[in-house]
Amino acid sequence: ATPTAIMAAIGNASKRGFLTREGSAMESLARTTHVVFDKTGTLTTGVPTIASLEAVSPFDPRSMLELAASAERKSEHPLGKAIVEGAESRGCALSDPERFDVLVGRGLTATVAGRRVAVGNAELMASESVEVAEDALARAQREEAAGRTAVFVSCDGRLAGTIALADGLRDESAHVVSDLASMGLVPVLLTGDNERTARTIAAQAGIGEVHAACLPEDKMAYVQRIEAAGGKVCMIGDGVNDAPALRLASVGVAMGGVGSDVAADASDIVLVDDGLSGLAHLMALSRRTLRTIR
Ligand code: ADP
Ligand code: MG
Repeated sequence: ATPTAIMAAIGNASKRGFLTREGSAMESLARTTHVVFDKTGTLTTGVPTIASLEAVSPFDPRSMLELAASAERKSEHPLGKAIVEGAESRGCALSDPERFDVLVGRGLTATVAGRRVAVGNAELMASESVEVAEDALARAQREEAAGRTAVFVSCDGRLAGTIALADGLRDESAHVVSDLASMGLVPVLLTGDNERTARTIAAQAGIGEVHAACLPEDKMAYVQRIEAAGGKVCMIGDGVNDAPALRLASVGVAMGGVGSDVAADASDIVLVDDGLSGLAHLMALSRRTLRTIR
């Protein structure tokens, strides 16, 4: 049976916009040593917008965007959705891809009007044998150092352009991180995004420990490593790519609003109000609760 103090704490927590699935989650929360954040959709709003477009001839920015957005038309990824929305708001005429394959943590490939299109990061371009010229690479790196995510677009094996996407921190992220740190917790950022973007966003949020270019299994391996060394991880994420780590962590916390159902199902706690604000409060509450029942 769940002790009364935990039931009361859960009641209190749910009034504040939390849904906890199990009483044991409160106890595990109180023992947390590391608070591990996903970046996109968790520390950031998860609603990126196009910040800049750069095309390689014979493409111009518009035809390059049209091609990328057609390839991304069925994408569930926030970056894909941002590219489609950006194209639609610019009045581009999109077509449906004849075929499309998602490459988790890299991007996607598709066939659009008979042409092979790839949209994604530098690793994807390398695996597609697409050469990224020095100036395109330098421009992408500048965007990344400014905290934006640069994705490359290729058509039939050649670079067609670069799309930079901006996804800002949630208003409350820096405050929540500093509250958690002042409670003695170690904040960590894990992301599939590249090192430069990750470092800039982490610095804005006040997080020192960053692990970039993580695939879902890398996020899981990180949790495993910390817990094997005696730590307890509270992992906060929103995406399908976070689900294995959310499931494995001592406490999994899913973002309610923009978050995927897969992430919620893998978690012990759901932040129903779609914000991080209550996290420090919930942590403090769990510590008080544990003291009460001991
Ligand atoms: P995160 O952990 O930050 O949520 P992901 O693991 O989903 O990121 O993606 C990692 C990287 O792969 C992205 O930063 C992007 O460069 C590339 N990528 C993934 N999906 C797409 C997509 N649909 N379109 C373009 N690029 C993508
Ligand atoms: Mg995410």
